[in-house]
Amino acid sequence: MAAQVLFPKLREPDEKEALRFGDRALTYRELAGVAGALAERLAGTSRAAVWATNTLETCAAVLGGLAAGVAVVPINPKVGERELAHIVADSEPEVLLAEPGFQPPPGLAGLAVHEVDVTARGGALPAEAAPEAPALIVYTSGTTGPPKGVVLPRRALSANLDALAEAWAWTAEDVLVHGLPLFHVHGLILGTLGPVRLGGSVQHLGRFSSRAAADALAGPATMLFGVPTMYHRLADDAEGDPSIAAAVRGARLLVSGSAALPAVEHARIERLTGQRVVERYGMSETIMNCGVRADGDRRPGYVGRPFAGVELKLVDERDAEIEASDDATVGEILVRGSNLFSGYLNRPDATEAAFTDGWFRTGDMATRAPDGYVRIVGRKATDIIKSGGYKIGAGEIENALLEHPAVAEVAVTGEPDDDLGERIVAWIVPAEGTSISGAEAADHVAGLLTPHKRPREVRLVEALPRNEMGKVQKKALLPTGGARRD
Ligand code: ATP
Ligand code: MG
Repeated sequence: MAAQVLFPKLREPDEKEALRFGDRALTYRELAGVAGALAERLAGTSRAAVWATNTLETCAAVLGGLAAGVAVVPINPKVGERELAHIVADSEPEVLLAEPGFQPPPGLAGLAVHEVDVTARGGALPAEAAPEAPALIVYTSGTTGPPKGVVLPRRALSANLDALAEAWAWTAEDVLVHGLPLFHVHGLILGTLGPVRLGGSVQHLGRFSSRAAADALAGPATMLFGVPTMYHRLADDAEGDPSIAAAVRGARLLVSGSAALPAVEHARIERLTGQRVVERYGMSETIMNCGVRADGDRRPGYVGRPFAGVELKLVDERDAEIEASDDATVGEILVRGSNLFSGYLNRPDATEAAFTDGWFRTGDMATRAPDGYVRIVGRKATDIIKSGGYKIGAGEIENALLEHPAVAEVAVTGEPDDDLGERIVAWIVPAEGTSISGAEAADHVAGLLTPHKRPREVRLVEALPRNEMGKVQKKALLPTGGARRD
Protein backbone atom coordinates (compact mmCIF):
# COMPACT_ATOMS: atom_id res chain seq x y z
CA MET A 1 0.00 0.00 0.00
CA ALA A 2 1.35 3.44 -0.91
CA ALA A 3 2.27 5.62 2.06
CA GLN A 4 -0.26 8.30 2.92
CA VAL A 5 1.08 11.72 2.00
CA LEU A 6 1.49 13.81 5.15
CA PHE A 7 1.26 17.22 3.44
CA PRO A 8 -0.55 16.78 0.12
CA LYS A 9 -0.53 20.48 -0.71
CA LEU A 10 3.28 20.62 -0.60
CA ARG A 11 3.24 18.21 -3.53
CA GLU A 12 0.69 20.24 -5.49
CA PRO A 13 1.36 23.76 -4.27
CA ASP A 14 -0.32 26.97 -5.34
CA GLU A 15 -0.17 30.65 -4.40
CA LYS A 16 -2.28 30.32 -1.26
CA GLU A 17 -0.64 31.61 1.95
CA ALA A 18 0.50 28.74 4.20
CA LEU A 19 2.43 30.40 7.05
CA ARG A 20 2.61 33.94 8.36
CA PHE A 21 4.78 35.50 11.07
CA GLY A 22 3.99 39.23 11.23
CA ASP A 23 4.93 40.72 7.86
CA ARG A 24 6.81 37.60 6.72
CA ALA A 25 4.85 34.86 5.00
CA LEU A 26 5.25 31.86 2.71
CA THR A 27 2.78 30.62 0.12
CA TYR A 28 2.43 26.88 -0.46
CA ARG A 29 4.54 27.24 -3.62
CA GLU A 30 7.29 29.02 -1.67
CA LEU A 31 7.07 26.56 1.24
CA ALA A 32 7.29 23.62 -1.18
CA GLY A 33 10.39 25.30 -2.65
CA VAL A 34 12.06 25.64 0.78
CA ALA A 35 11.10 22.04 1.57
CA GLY A 36 12.58 20.89 -1.74
CA ALA A 37 15.84 22.74 -1.04
CA LEU A 38 16.02 21.23 2.45
CA ALA A 39 15.28 17.77 1.09
CA GLU A 40 18.30 18.11 -1.21
CA ARG A 41 20.45 19.19 1.72
CA LEU A 42 19.11 16.35 3.89
CA ALA A 43 19.45 13.56 1.31
CA GLY A 44 20.92 10.54 3.11
CA THR A 45 20.21 12.06 6.55
CA SER A 46 17.99 10.19 8.96
CA ARG A 47 17.63 12.68 11.84
CA ALA A 48 17.70 16.46 11.94
CA ALA A 49 17.37 18.62 15.03
CA VAL A 50 15.60 21.98 14.76
CA TRP A 51 16.43 24.94 17.01
CA ALA A 52 12.79 25.71 17.61
CA THR A 53 12.55 29.47 18.08
CA ASN A 54 9.20 31.02 17.23
CA THR A 55 10.12 31.85 13.65
CA LEU A 56 9.14 31.17 10.07
CA GLU A 57 12.47 29.31 9.72
CA THR A 58 11.48 26.79 12.41
CA CYS A 59 8.16 26.01 10.71
CA ALA A 60 9.85 25.68 7.33
CA ALA A 61 12.60 23.48 8.80
CA VAL A 62 10.17 21.07 10.46
CA LEU A 63 7.89 20.88 7.42
CA GLY A 64 10.88 20.52 5.10
CA GLY A 65 12.39 17.79 7.23
CA LEU A 66 9.10 15.89 7.37
CA ALA A 67 8.49 16.28 3.65
CA ALA A 68 12.02 14.92 3.11
CA GLY A 69 11.19 11.87 5.25
CA VAL A 70 13.69 12.79 7.97
CA ALA A 71 12.94 12.37 11.69
CA VAL A 72 12.83 15.85 13.21
CA VAL A 73 13.93 16.62 16.78
CA PRO A 74 12.59 20.03 17.84
CA ILE A 75 14.67 21.60 20.62
CA ASN A 76 13.44 24.19 23.10
CA PRO A 77 15.86 27.09 22.52
CA LYS A 78 15.74 27.95 26.24
CA VAL A 79 17.02 24.51 27.25
CA GLY A 80 19.97 24.52 29.65
CA GLU A 81 23.42 23.30 28.68
CA ARG A 82 23.25 19.92 30.44
CA GLU A 83 19.80 19.06 29.13
CA LEU A 84 20.81 20.13 25.63
CA ALA A 85 23.88 17.89 25.72
CA HIS A 86 21.65 15.00 26.88
CA ILE A 87 19.14 15.56 24.07
CA VAL A 88 21.84 15.72 21.40
CA ALA A 89 23.66 12.63 22.71
CA ASP A 90 20.37 10.73 23.03
CA SER A 91 18.83 11.64 19.66
CA GLU A 92 22.06 11.72 17.61
CA PRO A 93 20.97 14.19 14.93
CA GLU A 94 23.29 14.49 11.93
CA VAL A 95 22.55 18.17 11.51
CA LEU A 96 20.89 21.06 13.32
CA LEU A 97 18.57 23.31 11.33
CA ALA A 98 18.47 26.88 12.60
CA GLU A 99 17.74 30.42 11.49
CA PRO A 100 20.42 32.49 9.77
CA GLY A 101 22.97 33.99 12.16
CA PHE A 102 22.42 31.24 14.77
CA GLN A 103 25.21 31.02 17.37
CA PRO A 104 25.51 27.45 18.72
CA PRO A 105 25.49 27.28 22.53
CA PRO A 106 28.11 25.10 24.33
CA GLY A 107 25.87 22.00 24.59
CA LEU A 108 25.84 21.75 20.78
CA ALA A 109 29.57 21.61 20.21
CA GLY A 110 30.51 19.56 17.16
CA LEU A 111 27.06 19.30 15.58
CA ALA A 112 26.85 20.47 11.94
CA VAL A 113 24.56 23.47 11.55
CA HIS A 114 22.52 24.28 8.47
CA GLU A 115 21.00 27.75 8.29
CA VAL A 116 17.50 27.60 6.88
CA ASP A 117 16.95 30.05 4.05
CA VAL A 118 13.26 30.63 3.44
CA THR A 119 14.01 32.19 0.06
CA ALA A 120 15.69 28.97 -1.17
CA ARG A 121 13.85 27.02 -3.87
CA GLY A 122 14.62 23.38 -4.57
CA GLY A 123 13.32 20.66 -6.80
CA ALA A 124 10.79 17.89 -6.31
CA LEU A 125 10.27 16.20 -2.96
CA PRO A 126 11.39 12.59 -2.50
CA ALA A 127 8.87 9.74 -2.25
CA GLU A 128 6.74 9.73 0.89
CA ALA A 129 8.24 7.87 3.88
CA ALA A 130 6.52 4.83 5.41
CA PRO A 131 3.66 5.35 7.93
CA GLU A 132 5.61 3.84 10.83
CA ALA A 133 8.78 5.84 10.08
CA PRO A 134 9.58 8.25 12.90
CA ALA A 135 8.35 11.76 12.13
CA LEU A 136 9.11 13.67 15.31
CA ILE A 137 11.10 13.01 18.44
CA VAL A 138 9.64 15.31 21.09
CA TYR A 139 11.35 15.59 24.47
CA THR A 140 9.27 15.55 27.67
CA SER A 141 9.74 18.30 30.23
CA GLY A 142 11.97 16.06 32.33
CA THR A 143 10.19 16.73 35.58
CA THR A 144 10.88 13.27 36.94
CA GLY A 145 14.33 12.52 35.45
CA PRO A 146 16.28 13.22 32.29
CA PRO A 147 13.89 14.24 29.48
CA LYS A 148 12.64 11.27 27.46
CA GLY A 149 12.46 11.36 23.66
CA VAL A 150 8.93 10.51 22.53
CA VAL A 151 9.07 8.93 19.07
CA LEU A 152 5.97 9.86 17.08
CA PRO A 153 5.50 7.97 13.80
CA ARG A 154 4.02 9.64 10.72
CA ARG A 155 0.89 7.48 11.11
CA ALA A 156 0.13 9.08 14.50
CA LEU A 157 0.35 12.60 13.05
CA SER A 158 -1.88 11.94 10.06
CA ALA A 159 -4.46 9.86 11.93
CA ASN A 160 -4.77 12.28 14.84
CA LEU A 161 -4.78 15.47 12.76
CA ASP A 162 -7.52 14.02 10.55
CA ALA A 163 -9.55 13.17 13.65
CA LEU A 164 -9.17 16.73 14.97
CA ALA A 165 -10.16 18.17 11.61
CA GLU A 166 -13.32 16.08 11.58
CA ALA A 167 -14.24 16.92 15.19
CA TRP A 168 -13.68 20.65 14.80
CA ALA A 169 -15.01 20.96 11.22
CA TRP A 170 -11.52 22.30 10.52
CA THR A 171 -10.87 22.78 6.79
CA ALA A 172 -8.60 24.43 4.24
CA GLU A 173 -10.83 27.51 4.61
CA ASP A 174 -9.70 28.04 8.20
CA VAL A 175 -6.97 30.45 9.23
CA LEU A 176 -5.54 29.49 12.60
CA VAL A 177 -3.92 32.05 14.90
CA HIS A 178 -1.76 31.25 17.90
CA GLY A 179 1.37 32.26 19.79
CA LEU A 180 2.44 28.85 21.09
CA PRO A 181 6.02 27.56 21.26
CA LEU A 182 7.09 25.29 18.40
CA PHE A 183 8.81 22.47 20.30
CA HIS A 184 5.68 20.94 21.88
CA VAL A 185 2.79 18.98 20.46
CA HIS A 186 0.37 21.90 20.90
CA GLY A 187 2.10 24.61 18.88
CA LEU A 188 3.98 22.31 16.52
CA ILE A 189 1.66 19.43 15.63
CA LEU A 190 -1.75 21.01 16.14
CA GLY A 191 -0.76 24.60 15.48
CA THR A 192 1.59 24.22 12.51
CA LEU A 193 1.39 20.76 10.95
CA GLY A 194 -2.42 20.74 11.34
CA PRO A 195 -3.16 23.73 9.10
CA VAL A 196 -0.56 22.66 6.50
CA ARG A 197 -1.89 19.08 6.32
CA LEU A 198 -5.34 20.53 5.61
CA GLY A 199 -4.08 23.04 3.07
CA GLY A 200 -5.23 25.88 5.31
CA SER A 201 -3.23 28.77 6.79
CA VAL A 202 -1.63 29.65 10.09
CA GLN A 203 -0.71 33.05 11.49
CA HIS A 204 1.86 32.82 14.26
CA LEU A 205 2.02 35.74 16.67
CA GLY A 206 5.66 35.12 17.58
CA ARG A 207 4.67 35.98 21.11
CA PHE A 208 1.09 35.84 22.33
CA SER A 209 -0.69 39.10 23.06
CA SER A 210 -4.44 39.59 23.30
CA ARG A 211 -4.23 42.60 20.99
CA ALA A 212 -2.39 40.68 18.26
CA ALA A 213 -4.70 37.67 18.57
CA ALA A 214 -7.75 39.97 18.40
CA ASP A 215 -6.36 41.80 15.35
CA ALA A 216 -5.85 38.47 13.57
CA LEU A 217 -9.38 37.35 14.45
CA ALA A 218 -10.78 40.69 13.27
CA GLY A 219 -8.97 39.91 9.99
CA PRO A 220 -8.79 36.55 8.23
CA ALA A 221 -8.20 34.29 11.26
CA THR A 222 -11.08 31.97 12.14
CA MET A 223 -9.67 29.81 14.96
CA LEU A 224 -7.53 30.39 18.04
CA PHE A 225 -5.49 27.74 19.88
CA GLY A 226 -4.22 28.64 23.35
CA VAL A 227 -3.21 27.46 26.79
CA PRO A 228 -5.26 28.51 29.85
CA THR A 229 -2.86 31.33 30.82
CA MET A 230 -3.49 32.91 27.41
CA TYR A 231 -7.26 32.70 27.85
CA HIS A 232 -6.81 34.26 31.29
CA ARG A 233 -4.97 37.21 29.71
CA LEU A 234 -7.47 37.41 26.87
CA ALA A 235 -10.31 37.67 29.39
CA ASP A 236 -8.46 40.33 31.41
CA ASP A 237 -7.77 42.37 28.27
CA ALA A 238 -11.26 41.90 26.81
CA GLU A 239 -12.62 43.27 30.07
CA GLY A 240 -10.79 46.55 29.56
CA ASP A 241 -11.04 46.80 25.77
CA PRO A 242 -14.35 46.20 23.95
CA SER A 243 -12.55 45.98 20.59
CA ILE A 244 -10.74 42.83 21.80
CA ALA A 245 -14.01 41.33 23.03
CA ALA A 246 -15.69 42.14 19.70
CA ALA A 247 -12.92 40.55 17.62
CA VAL A 248 -12.96 37.35 19.70
CA ARG A 249 -16.77 37.25 19.41
CA GLY A 250 -16.41 36.83 15.65
CA ALA A 251 -14.14 33.75 15.79
CA ARG A 252 -15.39 30.40 14.51
CA LEU A 253 -13.71 28.32 17.23
CA LEU A 254 -11.55 28.83 20.32
CA VAL A 255 -9.67 25.77 21.59
CA SER A 256 -7.84 25.39 24.91
CA GLY A 257 -5.49 22.69 26.13
CA SER A 258 -2.14 21.67 27.70
CA ALA A 259 -3.59 22.26 31.17
CA ALA A 260 -7.07 22.49 32.65
CA LEU A 261 -9.06 25.59 31.73
CA PRO A 262 -10.56 26.77 35.04
CA ALA A 263 -14.36 26.91 35.03
CA VAL A 264 -14.30 30.59 36.02
CA GLU A 265 -12.15 31.39 33.00
CA HIS A 266 -14.54 29.54 30.70
CA ALA A 267 -17.43 31.54 32.14
CA ARG A 268 -15.57 34.86 31.94
CA ILE A 269 -14.69 34.37 28.24
CA GLU A 270 -18.31 33.53 27.52
CA ARG A 271 -19.64 36.55 29.41
CA LEU A 272 -17.24 38.91 27.64
CA THR A 273 -17.21 37.48 24.11
CA GLY A 274 -20.15 35.09 23.81
CA GLN A 275 -17.64 32.33 22.96
CA ARG A 276 -17.68 28.98 24.69
CA VAL A 277 -14.15 27.61 24.57
CA VAL A 278 -13.70 24.03 23.37
CA GLU A 279 -11.34 22.04 25.57
CA ARG A 280 -9.18 19.10 24.50
CA TYR A 281 -6.79 16.82 26.35
CA GLY A 282 -3.57 15.30 25.07
CA MET A 283 0.09 14.75 25.71
CA SER A 284 3.41 14.27 23.93
CA GLU A 285 3.08 10.47 23.89
CA THR A 286 -0.45 10.37 22.50
CA ILE A 287 -1.02 13.67 20.68
CA MET A 288 -4.76 14.32 21.32
CA ASN A 289 -6.86 11.82 23.27
CA CYS A 290 -10.18 13.54 23.63
CA GLY A 291 -11.88 16.82 23.11
CA VAL A 292 -15.17 18.60 22.76
CA ARG A 293 -16.43 18.69 19.18
CA ALA A 294 -17.28 21.95 17.43
CA ASP A 295 -20.91 20.78 17.39
CA GLY A 296 -20.67 19.24 20.88
CA ASP A 297 -21.86 20.36 24.28
CA ARG A 298 -19.23 22.77 25.69
CA ARG A 299 -19.35 22.13 29.42
CA PRO A 300 -16.72 23.88 31.54
CA GLY A 301 -14.35 21.38 33.14
CA TYR A 302 -14.96 18.63 30.57
CA VAL A 303 -12.62 17.52 27.78
CA GLY A 304 -15.31 15.72 25.80
CA ARG A 305 -15.06 12.21 24.34
CA PRO A 306 -12.21 10.32 22.64
CA PHE A 307 -11.33 11.46 19.14
CA ALA A 308 -11.75 9.03 16.20
CA GLY A 309 -9.10 6.32 16.32
CA VAL A 310 -8.61 6.64 20.10
CA GLU A 311 -9.88 4.15 22.70
CA LEU A 312 -9.99 5.34 26.28
CA LYS A 313 -10.76 3.58 29.54
CA LEU A 314 -10.55 4.37 33.25
CA VAL A 315 -8.97 1.85 35.60
CA ASP A 316 -8.75 1.51 39.36
CA GLU A 317 -5.61 0.93 41.40
CA ARG A 318 -5.54 -2.75 40.40
CA ASP A 319 -5.90 -1.88 36.70
CA ALA A 320 -9.48 -3.20 36.66
CA GLU A 321 -11.67 -1.26 34.25
CA ILE A 322 -14.14 1.14 35.83
CA GLU A 323 -17.46 0.55 34.12
CA ALA A 324 -19.33 3.30 35.95
CA SER A 325 -20.22 6.45 34.04
CA ASP A 326 -21.39 8.34 37.09
CA ASP A 327 -19.12 11.39 36.85
CA ALA A 328 -17.90 10.54 40.35
CA THR A 329 -15.72 7.42 40.25
CA VAL A 330 -12.13 8.49 39.65
CA GLY A 331 -9.68 6.30 37.75
CA GLU A 332 -6.50 6.53 35.75
CA ILE A 333 -6.90 7.20 32.03
CA LEU A 334 -5.50 4.48 29.76
CA VAL A 335 -5.51 4.95 26.00
CA ARG A 336 -4.67 3.04 22.84
CA GLY A 337 -5.11 3.73 19.17
CA SER A 338 -3.59 5.17 16.02
CA ASN A 339 -2.56 8.33 17.92
CA LEU A 340 0.07 6.59 20.07
CA PHE A 341 3.83 7.06 19.97
CA SER A 342 6.03 4.10 19.11
CA GLY A 343 8.15 4.29 22.28
CA TYR A 344 10.66 6.37 24.22
CA LEU A 345 13.95 6.69 22.34
CA ASN A 346 16.69 4.44 23.78
CA ARG A 347 14.47 3.69 26.81
CA PRO A 348 12.93 0.22 26.41
CA ASP A 349 12.53 0.11 30.21
CA ALA A 350 10.49 3.31 30.32
CA THR A 351 8.49 2.25 27.26
CA GLU A 352 7.62 -1.08 28.82
CA ALA A 353 6.66 0.54 32.12
CA ALA A 354 4.35 2.98 30.32
CA PHE A 355 2.19 0.23 28.81
CA THR A 356 -0.08 -2.44 30.24
CA ASP A 357 -1.57 -4.98 27.81
CA GLY A 358 -1.06 -2.59 24.91
CA TRP A 359 -2.72 0.31 26.74
CA PHE A 360 -0.72 3.45 27.52
CA ARG A 361 -0.86 4.76 31.09
CA THR A 362 -1.37 8.51 30.94
CA GLY A 363 -0.81 9.15 34.65
CA ASP A 364 -3.87 11.42 34.54
CA MET A 365 -6.93 10.79 36.72
CA ALA A 366 -10.48 11.41 35.55
CA THR A 367 -14.16 10.62 35.87
CA ARG A 368 -16.63 9.83 33.10
CA ALA A 369 -20.12 11.31 32.86
CA PRO A 370 -23.15 9.28 31.72
CA ASP A 371 -22.80 10.75 28.21
CA GLY A 372 -19.13 9.70 28.05
CA TYR A 373 -17.70 13.15 28.71
CA VAL A 374 -14.33 12.93 30.45
CA ARG A 375 -13.46 15.25 33.34
CA ILE A 376 -9.77 15.42 34.25
CA VAL A 377 -9.27 15.49 38.00
CA GLY A 378 -5.49 15.87 37.91
CA ARG A 379 -2.24 13.98 37.70
CA LYS A 380 -1.87 10.78 39.69
CA ALA A 381 1.58 11.87 40.88
CA THR A 382 0.85 15.39 42.12
CA ASP A 383 -2.85 16.21 42.11
CA ILE A 384 -4.47 13.49 44.16
CA ILE A 385 -4.31 14.34 47.84
CA LYS A 386 -4.94 11.51 50.30
CA SER A 387 -6.21 13.26 53.38
CA GLY A 388 -8.17 11.87 56.32
CA GLY A 389 -9.14 8.74 54.37
CA TYR A 390 -10.40 10.74 51.40
CA LYS A 391 -8.89 11.02 47.93
CA ILE A 392 -9.24 14.65 47.00
CA GLY A 393 -8.53 16.15 43.57
CA ALA A 394 -6.49 19.35 43.69
CA GLY A 395 -8.33 20.75 40.67
CA GLU A 396 -11.70 20.89 42.40
CA ILE A 397 -10.26 22.98 45.21
CA GLU A 398 -8.36 25.18 42.76
CA ASN A 399 -11.56 25.84 40.82
CA ALA A 400 -13.40 26.72 44.01
CA LEU A 401 -10.68 29.13 45.13
CA LEU A 402 -10.63 30.82 41.71
CA GLU A 403 -14.27 31.74 42.25
CA HIS A 404 -13.14 34.07 45.04
CA PRO A 405 -12.62 37.58 43.64
CA ALA A 406 -9.38 38.08 45.59
CA VAL A 407 -7.75 34.96 44.08
CA ALA A 408 -5.89 35.55 40.82
CA GLU A 409 -3.96 32.28 40.57
CA VAL A 410 -3.85 29.17 42.68
CA ALA A 411 -2.20 25.78 43.04
CA VAL A 412 -3.25 23.14 45.56
CA THR A 413 -0.82 20.48 46.81
CA GLY A 414 -0.67 17.84 49.53
CA GLU A 415 1.99 17.72 52.23
CA PRO A 416 2.75 14.95 54.73
CA ASP A 417 0.69 15.27 57.91
CA ASP A 418 0.87 13.11 61.05
CA ASP A 419 -2.90 13.14 61.63
CA LEU A 420 -4.34 13.21 58.13
CA GLY A 421 -1.73 11.40 56.08
CA GLU A 422 -1.58 14.44 53.85
CA ARG A 423 -2.90 17.93 54.45
CA ILE A 424 -4.25 20.27 51.80
CA VAL A 425 -2.07 23.28 51.09
CA ALA A 426 -3.26 26.17 48.91
CA TRP A 427 -0.76 28.50 47.21
CA ILE A 428 -2.51 31.71 46.28
CA VAL A 429 -1.48 34.69 44.19
CA PRO A 430 -3.88 37.45 45.34
CA ALA A 431 -5.59 39.55 42.65
CA GLU A 432 -4.13 43.01 42.19
CA GLY A 433 -5.39 45.52 44.72
CA THR A 434 -7.08 42.89 46.89
CA SER A 435 -6.16 40.92 49.96
CA ILE A 436 -7.35 37.64 51.38
CA SER A 437 -6.53 35.92 54.66
CA GLY A 438 -5.79 32.24 54.93
CA ALA A 439 -8.90 31.64 57.04
CA GLU A 440 -11.09 33.46 54.54
CA ALA A 441 -9.75 31.36 51.67
CA ALA A 442 -10.15 28.12 53.63
CA ASP A 443 -13.72 29.03 54.70
CA HIS A 444 -14.60 29.84 51.11
CA VAL A 445 -13.61 26.30 50.04
CA ALA A 446 -15.35 24.61 52.96
CA GLY A 447 -18.51 26.60 52.21
CA LEU A 448 -18.56 25.71 48.52
CA LEU A 449 -17.38 22.10 48.72
CA THR A 450 -17.29 19.92 51.84
CA PRO A 451 -15.44 20.53 55.11
CA HIS A 452 -12.82 17.84 54.47
CA LYS A 453 -11.73 19.74 51.35
CA ARG A 454 -10.83 22.78 53.45
CA PRO A 455 -7.16 23.78 52.98
CA ARG A 456 -5.24 23.38 56.25
CA GLU A 457 -2.64 25.81 55.19
CA VAL A 458 -2.75 28.79 52.84
CA ARG A 459 0.43 30.36 51.48
CA LEU A 460 0.19 33.73 49.79
CA VAL A 461 2.82 34.04 47.05
CA GLU A 462 3.71 36.58 44.38
CA ALA A 463 3.83 34.07 41.52
CA LEU A 464 3.56 30.36 40.84
CA PRO A 465 6.34 28.38 39.16
CA ARG A 466 5.18 27.84 35.57
CA ASN A 467 6.82 26.45 32.44
CA GLU A 468 6.73 28.00 28.96
CA MET A 469 3.26 26.50 28.38
CA GLY A 470 1.99 28.25 31.51
CA LYS A 471 1.67 24.91 33.35
CA VAL A 472 2.16 25.11 37.10
CA GLN A 473 5.23 23.07 38.05
CA LYS A 474 3.77 21.40 41.11
CA LYS A 475 6.88 19.35 41.77
CA ALA A 476 8.63 22.61 42.67
CA LEU A 477 5.95 23.26 45.32
CA LEU A 478 6.16 19.85 46.96
CA PRO A 479 8.37 19.41 50.02
CA THR A 480 10.18 16.56 48.27
CA GLY A 481 10.20 18.34 44.92
CA GLY A 482 13.28 20.48 44.68
CA ALA A 483 16.67 19.33 45.96
CA ARG A 484 16.95 22.86 47.33
CA ARG A 485 14.22 22.19 49.84
CA ASP A 486 15.59 19.00 51.35
P1 ATP B 1 6.42 15.35 31.65
O1 ATP B 1 5.76 14.17 31.01
O2 ATP B 1 7.85 15.48 31.23
O3 ATP B 1 6.27 15.38 33.14
P2 ATP B 1 4.13 16.91 30.75
O4 ATP B 1 3.33 15.68 31.05
O5 ATP B 1 3.67 18.20 31.36
O6 ATP B 1 5.69 16.68 31.11
P3 ATP B 1 3.08 17.10 28.08
O7 ATP B 1 3.10 15.78 27.42
O8 ATP B 1 3.33 18.28 27.22
O9 ATP B 1 4.20 17.15 29.19
O10 ATP B 1 1.71 17.38 28.82
C1 ATP B 1 0.70 16.42 28.94
C2 ATP B 1 -0.08 16.59 30.21
O11 ATP B 1 -0.74 17.87 30.27
C3 ATP B 1 -1.19 15.59 30.36
O12 ATP B 1 -0.71 14.35 30.84
C4 ATP B 1 -2.12 16.30 31.34
O13 ATP B 1 -1.71 16.11 32.68
C5 ATP B 1 -1.96 17.76 30.99
N1 ATP B 1 -3.08 18.26 30.15
C6 ATP B 1 -3.12 18.44 28.82
N2 ATP B 1 -4.31 18.91 28.42
C7 ATP B 1 -5.08 19.04 29.53
C8 ATP B 1 -6.42 19.48 29.80
N3 ATP B 1 -7.21 19.93 28.84
N4 ATP B 1 -6.83 19.46 31.09
C9 ATP B 1 -6.03 19.03 32.08
N5 ATP B 1 -4.78 18.62 31.90
C10 ATP B 1 -4.29 18.61 30.65
MG1 MG C 1 3.77 13.64 30.85
